[in-house]
Amino acid sequence: MVEIAPRSGTAFLLPAGATLKVVDPFGEQVSDFVAFNRHDMREIISNGRTFDYEETIRLTRGNRLWSNRSRPMIEIVEDTVGRHDFLLTPCSEATFRHFYPDRPVHRGCMGNLAAALAPHGVTADDIPTAFNIFMNVPVDGESGRLRVLPPISKAGDSITLRALMDLVIGMTACSAYDSNGGTFKPIRYGIDAP
Ligand SMILES: [Zn+2]
Repeated sequence: MVEIAPRSGTAFLLPAGATLKVVDPFGEQVSDFVAFNRHDMREIISNGRTFDYEETIRLTRGNRLWSNRSRPMIEIVEDTVGRHDFLLTPCSEATFRHFYPDRPVHRGCMGNLAAALAPHGVTADDIPTAFNIFMNVPVDGESGRLRVLPPISKAGDSITLRALMDLVIGMTACSAYDSNGGTFKPIRYGIDAP
């Protein structure tokens, strides 16, 4: 397993057919996850397309993540948590100023993803709404109000994703105070090639 240090990010290639296991080693930590078509970086994961085709916002084992071009990019093949978010954008300097005006500003997952993906030609403006692994964002069914609560993931919980095309992945160990209950922890991952 590779470790993503607290409040940092990374990028790597994931070939078609490979599986990526993402582990929350200590529990209650979030990983912001984005994926691009390695052969045309303008094709990216899309929360809207995914909600269209999967007909749910509660994505778990058996669901697929779709691209902005209506092609499946990733299938969730294992999931010991069953609670992830695909509504909210990566935390950023601006969201830190908005939500935590009295606390130190951090470049957040947005800054970490932009830095990690820069060698692949990606800029911050290219980064879509992330699939926020383990992030707990309950939606009130009547009012539609969103809350960000600590993840329900326990130490050792994981999700496993299979690449359905050759991908460039960006991933973080989230930097925001609310998404992980105010503690910053690492995230671990491992890849099984086809
Ligand atoms: Zn974050």
